[in-house]
Amino acid sequence: MMNAPRVMIVEDDEDDFILARDLLQEVYGADIEVDWAPAWKDGLDALVAAKHDVFLVDYRLGARDGLDLVQEANAQGCMAPIILLSGQDSPEIDLRAMSVGAQDYLVKDSITADQLARAIRYGINQKRVEKRLIDLAQYDSLTGLANRSLFHDRLDAAIAQARRDDRNVAVLLLDLDRFKDINDTFGHPAGDALLKSVAARLKSCMRETDIVARISGDEFAIIATNLERKNAASRVADKICASFKDPFQLNGRDVYISVSIGISILDQGMSDSEPLLKNADVAMYQAKLENGAAFRYFDEAMNEREQAFKLMEHEIRVALQRQDFILHYQPKLNLETGEVVGVEALLRWPHRDRGMVPPSDIIPIAEATGLIQPIGAWVLRQSCAQIKKWRALGLPPIPIAANTSALQFKRAGLVDVVSEALADADISPDLLELEITESVAMDRSGVAAGVINQLCDLGVRVTIDDFGTDFATFRLLTDVPVNGIKVDRSFVNMMTRDPKNAAIVKAIILMGRDLGLSVVAEGVETEAEYQFLRGHGCEQVQGWYFSPALPPDQFADWYRTRQRPKLSTIALD
Ligand code: C2E
Ligand code: MG
Ligand code: MG
Repeated sequence: MMNAPRVMIVEDDEDDFILARDLLQEVYGADIEVDWAPAWKDGLDALVAAKHDVFLVDYRLGARDGLDLVQEANAQGCMAPIILLSGQDSPEIDLRAMSVGAQDYLVKDSITADQLARAIRYGINQKRVEKRLIDLAQYDSLTGLANRSLFHDRLDAAIAQARRDDRNVAVLLLDLDRFKDINDTFGHPAGDALLKSVAARLKSCMRETDIVARISGDEFAIIATNLERKNAASRVADKICASFKDPFQLNGRDVYISVSIGISILDQGMSDSEPLLKNADVAMYQAKLENGAAFRYFDEAMNEREQAFKLMEHEIRVALQRQDFILHYQPKLNLETGEVVGVEALLRWPHRDRGMVPPSDIIPIAEATGLIQPIGAWVLRQSCAQIKKWRALGLPPIPIAANTSALQFKRAGLVDVVSEALADADISPDLLELEITESVAMDRSGVAAGVINQLCDLGVRVTIDDFGTDFATFRLLTDVPVNGIKVDRSFVNMMTRDPKNAAIVKAIILMGRDLGLSVVAEGVETEAEYQFLRGHGCEQVQGWYFSPALPPDQFADWYRTRQRPKLSTIALD
């Protein structure tokens, strides 16, 4: 005998109920669980409660009929198979039964046990397939969470409900911090496994009734409903952040990952879900900008910042096309001989309204938008071309150090850009130097290290900028063949006033020498700093004490005409 389903019979006539129950017992045996809903309303409650595997619904149910009931139940999200029973054989009712969503239509008098069993079997099966299709369309197959489309439906429903009950609804948008690094380092299957674990952790932080969805790659969204007070969403966000304090297991290793969360609360003035989501996105972006691992509520000021950001992005794009960017060059001197050993190229943007825009206003936006790739390539080409131009003006070959962003090292294309720039300007590779920062060292995937090795093979020099600001830079010294380090300006500024900073600078100089690296102290502003560095055997210096960064023509003039007071001082020693 087949597994007996749990059946609900919705029937206002007790005799007919007994008849149907007897038929069921004939098919499934006396133990089958059969319940009875004697009225339309009882039937609806049972259908919505969905505790039965199949429903047999009488066509005549007093004032309202069975078709009505099926229609209403389906509208309320009922997913159970329903078989309509009727006293009369009517093709018209049959047709309508199907069109409102019943699985079958049987005529009471002529029904056999076998027919009923088959109708039930088909009905259950059909609903199972239907549910599977709906799941596929509404749920994320990787994590089992709601997908973007279901999330939107649920959000619309939650907003409507909140309006009726005068309650708050909050949307939390979550984005994993540095998820791309996980994929790069551990591989995509591990990335997928992480997303699954994150989904499970998020669900465990939420109530049954809250919706947790995965809306794109590493982006999750939560609808928190029935909030008593607006800041109740903070408790949810706190709980989520706390749950990320424990490591995730990836390939048998403990991996710590954090999440940035943007929260926005339904506002009276909002017509639909659109602004709610947009605001959560802006707030999430703000949390990211502030280094992640935190949540931020949306506020209007963020909108203004976002708009300012968008405008700047647009203007940077245009400036790039129109070739409005320029490079200024700041000399580096050998402390021993006073010779100019090279220059650092520094990005500048002469802007119609904003004046001379510094790189600190350009680079972060370029990095966030991907524009750093074309800008970085332009800096490299321009630097190589400048070496050639100065040569044409009769200056000796002057090496140029160009700053690079860690993002440029994530793509192998950098090596091609550099070789083309060198070839186009027809200059020797050792005249070009790339300054890299600690964030390159943070890339544990090995991609950046590979690119640095290839650059060294080309004959290009690589130095570590802002050295000492992060421990990760020490790792670079052992992992890749760098040629030099630049002592970060913050140490140089403090070393003559604070013994701890002095100790650090001395240690870096000694370490650099032992490793055979050239050591440049940057940001040298005073005679005292200059003397300190001389006294401790620093090889090279750069800073306003010698010269600010200059436009190319002014640099050429400076180079030709510069007095060498420092040289004479050194020569006297
Ligand atoms: P950085 O590579 O450490 O460059 C040195 C910065 O210190 C420059 O600021 C320079 O003008 C400034 N500086 C030089 N001497 C002194 C001094 O004596 N005292 C003080 N207080 N500052 C001094 P700038 O030009 O504003 O550049 C800031 C940062 O922007 C650079 O730091 C670099 O990280 C980045 N940057 C500049 N150009 C580019 C570029 O083309 N590409 C990339 N990715 N980053 C760039
Ligand atoms: Mg630099
Ligand atoms: Mg620096």
